[in-house]
Amino acid sequence: MSTYDKVLIRFGDLMLKGKNQKIFRERAIALLKQNTKHLNVALEKRHDRLFLVIQNEDLNAIEQALMHVTGIGSFSFVKSSEKDYDSIVLNAIQVIQNEVKAKKTFKVETKRTDKSLPHTSQEITQILSKGILKEVHELVTVDVRNPEVTLHVEINETEALIYLDSKKGLGGFPVGVAGRGLLLISGGIDSPVAGFLAMKQGVEVEGIHFESTPMTSIESAQKVIELAKKMSVYAYRQEFRLHMVPFFKLHQEIIARISPSYVITVMRRMFFRVSEKLAQKKHALVLITGESIGQVASQTLDSMHTIEAVTTIPIIRPLATTDKQDIIKLSKQIDTYDISIMPFEDCCTIYTPSGSSTKPNIKKALINEKFMVEYDKIIDEIVAQTKTFVITPNSDIRLEQHGFTVTEAWEAMHDHIEGQ
Ligand code: ATP
Ligand code: MG
Repeated sequence: MSTYDKVLIRFGDLMLKGKNQKIFRERAIALLKQNTKHLNVALEKRHDRLFLVIQNEDLNAIEQALMHVTGIGSFSFVKSSEKDYDSIVLNAIQVIQNEVKAKKTFKVETKRTDKSLPHTSQEITQILSKGILKEVHELVTVDVRNPEVTLHVEINETEALIYLDSKKGLGGFPVGVAGRGLLLISGGIDSPVAGFLAMKQGVEVEGIHFESTPMTSIESAQKVIELAKKMSVYAYRQEFRLHMVPFFKLHQEIIARISPSYVITVMRRMFFRVSEKLAQKKHALVLITGESIGQVASQTLDSMHTIEAVTTIPIIRPLATTDKQDIIKLSKQIDTYDISIMPFEDCCTIYTPSGSSTKPNIKKALINEKFMVEYDKIIDEIVAQTKTFVITPNSDIRLEQHGFTVTEAWEAMHDHIEGQ
């Protein structure tokens, strides 16, 4: 029998206030349900609190599930008790006996939301401490200044909750409450992390990937699908939409017409032009990228300036000022790292000249683009030909079984696609 019978779940302060409260709360409840549906737990809703009632479930499994729910500030495994002091003391003793493994200093901290109780929080703390210590003085001694263990008691209208510590959740807001954004996702380390950070902040993220099959391998597109599977764990309904843009034709045009030092710059300008059009079509309000200042030649401020000039849609760069080591840490946390480091070339690494300009400017980019034949038309064409995959954590999508291009494979995969 586990010590605990509930999990107290705390969303951020904003959850409880303001006019978005209802939307936030509903989304939070939906996320909790979807992420715990494989577990033997039941959701208990109170006006200001959410609980999971635990039957006989492995606490680690619950903890893991909650660590995937965006918006959870923290959570605690709690023992619920009748409100009379004798019952609270008995239950508290049980918690301490089960959970405190070696002699520790401790204090009791009481919070009461039931204001009809005859004692103040402080008085209750004293009454409870006395009763508890009588039984477990061999395990704990009181140190109110700097205790190793704090036993929390919260007394509300219906019950008392007893718990030791709180675990930190993902924080942020429930995914989706902030509106929709399109993540430019490559097979690299950065963009999945950028997408995750945006999701954690409440953005409903859809992916857009520029794939150049058959010039690039079908495996490089498969890699992005594998990354999308990992991201779908955090998504609403655990569904991640991935728009695959057939970039081959435009890519060839760029390589054929643009001077080597501007290939990367122009390619990215094309990315943004296509992305902005797709964003309009998919009702997304912002674009998101994995760019980080200075990381590579194309991510200098001059580059960003020149590239961004082609769009008016806001561009969010969650990793702009993050160190690579911290990005890697996050990519391990969301389990994308091992996929990202697989060595398949995508359109940004294949046939790209090494002498890219680190100081490109808009004027020269425009002059270069004049040599391209009707790129506007190609853009409209590839936006229309974009294929949308709906990806879940267990999606069984194997592109390479169906051809050498994503378009061929897509045609054979009607289970996982969405109409245009
Ligand atoms: P990442 O690790 O995300 O690939 P990176 O440091 O390798 O980033 P670049 O390859 O210069 O950087 O790409 C910068 C950003 O451009 C990426 O983070 C991503 O948002 C976007 N991007 C690059 N290639 C593609 C692609 N083929 N499809 C969609 N977006 C892309
Ligand atoms: Mg990359």
